[in-house]
Amino acid sequence: MTSSLTKPIVPFFNYPAVFSSQEDLFIETFREVGRRGAFILQKDLEGFEKSLAAYSGVRFALGVANGTDAIYIALRAAGIGAGDEVIFCSHTFIATAAAIHLIGATPVAIDCGADHMMDPSKIEAALTHKTRAIVPTQLNGRTADMDAIMDIANRNGLIVVEDAAQALGSKFNGRCAGTFGIAGTISFYPAKTLGAFGDAGAILTNDEAIYQKCRQLRDHGRNEAGEIVDWGYNSRLDNIQAAFLNVKLTTYDQEVATRRSIASRYQQMLGTISQLRLPPAPDSDSRHFDVFQNYEIEAERRDELQAYLKENGVGTIVQWGGKPVHQWKRLAVRGDAPYTDALFTRCLLLPMHAHLTNDDVHYVCETIRHFYDKR
Ligand SMILES: *Cc1c(COP(=O)(O)O)cnc(C)c1O
Repeated sequence: MTSSLTKPIVPFFNYPAVFSSQEDLFIETFREVGRRGAFILQKDLEGFEKSLAAYSGVRFALGVANGTDAIYIALRAAGIGAGDEVIFCSHTFIATAAAIHLIGATPVAIDCGADHMMDPSKIEAALTHKTRAIVPTQLNGRTADMDAIMDIANRNGLIVVEDAAQALGSKFNGRCAGTFGIAGTISFYPAKTLGAFGDAGAILTNDEAIYQKCRQLRDHGRNEAGEIVDWGYNSRLDNIQAAFLNVKLTTYDQEVATRRSIASRYQQMLGTISQLRLPPAPDSDSRHFDVFQNYEIEAERRDELQAYLKENGVGTIVQWGGKPVHQWKRLAVRGDAPYTDALFTRCLLLPMHAHLTNDDVHYVCETIRHFYDKR
């Protein structure tokens, strides 16, 4: 195989393709919205919110500026704040913990389990008299065991807000990620399964009071009458982004189907390599419907494999810049997560997006096979 490639053969993600795949349609959308002068809180946003709520099977969806704002706005609307402790899984983006911290609460890290999701059996040991909420991350396009998490939450009087930034349309027992707790949050960062052309996010909820509160918080604490009723933020989802997301939502099921078929091909071609542990295959567990935001494998000699893939033009990533939240020493996050510590010497994201060709997937798999064959 060739080495020292200047241009990757299979980049980790293909940003230009997100736009160019439907360029004419996006340009037409931009022109149409632009000519209407419809920039802030217009009908495209309202339409997207309705479609997103219907898609997720929830009463309300509210567009906000990004997936991080979505978490702290939802937590604040649920009454979480100073003095409260909030349990989260350390195998998540810093945004989950930062949202908890920035509203004055204390993030408490717990471990993930074999499927890389929050391990419900670790929750109870982390409870104190100050614990008020659990924020499970619906990671990699999979939904955690929400039966177990909701059961513990209900028995202990805790609120659940799901960080479903990576999991739009992912299901557990037929129900969408982001719809189990009092609220769930979605990110439309460009590399997410439903990506905007910039930052965007949403809050899902079945609770009308939470919806109204989030609506106020995202728009300077203003109510419907324009009166200021609380300290709020400017966290509106841009109308033009909502218009683009509306277009993309109509073909989102196809996006998910493509990702699931790529996951099946990875499973087929990598499943026999004993040095790897693969994520659950698309139809391996009838309780789960995964949308494969990411394809996170565990690999022996992970760093060597990653370097070898890079040499051969395959882009990969160790999630979160290489460390789960509790390992960032400067933040001094409470809690420990030994399973996650071990996982982070082994985990690696392979390319996973709808613009991968069969040849791309084949090349990635052959390169991995070659790495383990030759040593
Ligand atoms: C992307 C992501 C976020 C943050 O979303 P932004 O829209 O980038 O603010 C939060 N949590 C998780 C797990 C994510 O993957």
